[in-house]
Amino acid sequence: MFIDAADVERHLYELRRERLAAKMRGTDAAVARKSLTVAEKNAVLAKTGGCCHVCGGLLNEKWVVAHVVPHAYGGGHGIENLLPAHASCNGARWFYGSEEFQWIIKMGVYFRTQFEELDNPSAWTLAQQFVEHEQRKIKRRRNGRASVSSAQENGDVGAKP
Ligand SMILES: [Zn+2]
Repeated sequence: MFIDAADVERHLYELRRERLAAKMRGTDAAVARKSLTVAEKNAVLAKTGGCCHVCGGLLNEKWVVAHVVPHAYGGGHGIENLLPAHASCNGARWFYGSEEFQWIIKMGVYFRTQFEELDNPSAWTLAQQFVEHEQRKIKRRRNGRASVSSAQENGDVGAKP
């Protein structure tokens, strides 16, 4: 389906452009966020039997309420649009459009195979950069951004801007 890497880049760029346009439209329609009651949070958690809707893993006490249709696209805060997720999975899901997120997952699976199974040197270089990126993120979190991430990890309703 793609001709070459430049073709992939063009397609991802177009998906990003569409996402940002949708976000701009969604801003007007967005309803003010509200805190969920304990009963509402339990109802959201029960929808997946206590598992993260992104990865399927069991949730701990740090789960968050995620929007199925992202808030940025005008998705509502009603229970029908909410599912539980790990804070890190919800962070990775961000407000990517569904096709965009599918390509990100496919690229991640391909990258992992190139790195772990096929020892592709380019994948090893990227993996090293990824490790350094993750280390910088953890360091930043320790140096003062803890209050932001703990709010997101405590089940607050909302999506990243
Ligand atoms: Zn998860």
